[in-house]
Amino acid sequence: MRIKVTGMGRFDGKVVVVTGSGRGIGRATALAFAREGADVVVNVSKSVDEGNAVVEEIKALGRGAIMAKADVANEAEVEKMIKTAIDHFRKVDVLVNNAGIGISSMSYKMTKEQWDAVVDVNLTGVFNCFRAVVPRMMERRSGKIINISSVAGIDGFIGNINYAASKGGLLAFNRTAATELGRYGINVNAVAPGIIETQMTEWIKIPKYRDMYLSRIPLGRFGKPEDIASVVLFLASEEANYITGQVIRVD
Ligand code: NAP
Repeated sequence: MRIKVTGMGRFDGKVVVVTGSGRGIGRATALAFAREGADVVVNVSKSVDEGNAVVEEIKALGRGAIMAKADVANEAEVEKMIKTAIDHFRKVDVLVNNAGIGISSMSYKMTKEQWDAVVDVNLTGVFNCFRAVVPRMMERRSGKIINISSVAGIDGFIGNINYAASKGGLLAFNRTAATELGRYGINVNAVAPGIIETQMTEWIKIPKYRDMYLSRIPLGRFGKPEDIASVVLFLASEEANYITGQVIRVD
């Protein structure tokens, strides 16, 4: 039996779309929102079983959840995802642009395909989701958008110029969108994670990289997906109503 718990959390009655929420940072964020009362739209592009598992975890918490399979780089699929979200939950209060990929290569060896694949998901994918959601938020004069960038977008990232450029571009996008949408009651902020232990960063299991990167981290450990989720929830909460256009490094 599932018991719907109400009146307990910061996000009671809110509807949240988290792109790329089948695993890693997106999954932790989706679950954290659900624990604090939100209904959640879970999105993946390929890993349907992972997405369905997250939906089941959220339902077990007594919250509403649906799975929306959509490649964020595909405009039509994104439009369908947001329409499904609104048909099901009537509104979108929070959009977390989390879906992202990396394809490594030194800049001078990178192919156009490697460049396009990363920019299409990490930057154009955010634009697609933003465009589908923002007119609806403007009508309601309310909304929170959180973009998952990366410290790579600030500091650069050797062997990943496509990724660093997409995440840096996202910070300019973040700032501009915040400036344009403040008057409509919409806050737009970014989180820039350092190295977080997920499938994307399997390479940190290689001792030589692990030791090198760990030696540069003052807190002496890599981040966990929950370390990012808690900051995303803060930015999406009423407590952050007077914060917009910012980027919070979590590294
Ligand atoms: P992850 O473990 O690889 O998970 C990525 C999620 O995004 C998966 O659910 C994946 O599902 C989905 N996804 C990938 N491409 C998609 C697309 N085109 N459309 C929709 N969903 C898509 O990655 P993560 O480490 O949690 O990273 C999440 C975000 O944080 C990314 O934007 C990443 O750049 C950023 N970030 C991560 C780190 C880190 O150290 N891990 C650091 C800084 C920033 P499918 O398998 O179905 O595609």
